[in-house]
Amino acid sequence: MPFWTHRKQSAQSGETLVAADPLAVSESSETGRDDSSFGEPNADDILAEARELIMGSERVLIGAGSGLSTAAGLTYSGERFTRNFGPWIAKYGISDLYSSSFYPYPTDEERWAYWAKHVDLSRYEPPAMPLYRQLLDGVHDKDYFVLTTNVDAQFAKAGFDPFQIFATQGDYGFMQCMRGCHQRIYPLDDLVPRMLESTVDCAVPSDLVPHCPVCGGQMMVHLRCDQYFVQDEAWYEAQRRYNRFIQQLQERPDVPTVLLELGVGWNTPSIIRFPFEAIAAMLDIPLIRINYDDARIDTADVSQGFEIQDDIAAVLPKLL
Ligand SMILES: [Zn+2]
Repeated sequence: MPFWTHRKQSAQSGETLVAADPLAVSESSETGRDDSSFGEPNADDILAEARELIMGSERVLIGAGSGLSTAAGLTYSGERFTRNFGPWIAKYGISDLYSSSFYPYPTDEERWAYWAKHVDLSRYEPPAMPLYRQLLDGVHDKDYFVLTTNVDAQFAKAGFDPFQIFATQGDYGFMQCMRGCHQRIYPLDDLVPRMLESTVDCAVPSDLVPHCPVCGGQMMVHLRCDQYFVQDEAWYEAQRRYNRFIQQLQERPDVPTVLLELGVGWNTPSIIRFPFEAIAAMLDIPLIRINYDDARIDTADVSQGFEIQDDIAAVLPKLL
């Protein structure tokens, strides 16, 4: 169920504005009742405050997880999955794009046929989704940086400056040695279409199965799933740029700044969720967290936190 809160703390006291049911607020607004006249905070008030902060900011640190792409329409289950994975559903009984990535495909030919389809559906086939474009429209004239666990390249497609993006968990457009024997990744741009064209009975021809050019072993999509994830020079460069951005937050506290966290769940909270709370608390920067499932901000020291538990696709256009 959606709920919105705006927590504000001063040296003397803290206050929390809670709108337990923003939908009910909207309905009452339509009847002409002005909730604010009762002194009660509502979702519209919280939205207005958050919007004002973003509008007035000159610097935005965006943290984005899978919930943003889901809200943008890149869903991992349902009709989009069944429409594209019919033969795989029939053969392996897989039910969604997430759990099927852990399926023990018995041969490399089958594993790559599956991954070519998965990568195409998630990374190559979709255009820049409107929600990502709207996000860029809202921040393009600000000093921004994107920290994301998403591997679908939507930020780059939407036109975000590639030098202002740190995708920590990889990129579906590349592959790496499965054992990470050397720190280099290889583009999949040519291989995936060839695999898709030649897939028969959920398997690619053996001569299309890639092998590590160094150790001769198996290759896999560049996605962090174990200790063998490859961090090449470009990855470390992006990390350095992110660290410089954080350093700037500390060195230039006078620049109005907002932390905007979108769709970051609990799979890997140590990458965005926890650090954003820590940055908000340490540097006294407002944190706006929008999450469909759990928007709670647990760090008590966050001086200004927006917990917007709602659909990002519905909320974000009103914020920017
Ligand atoms: Zn290797």
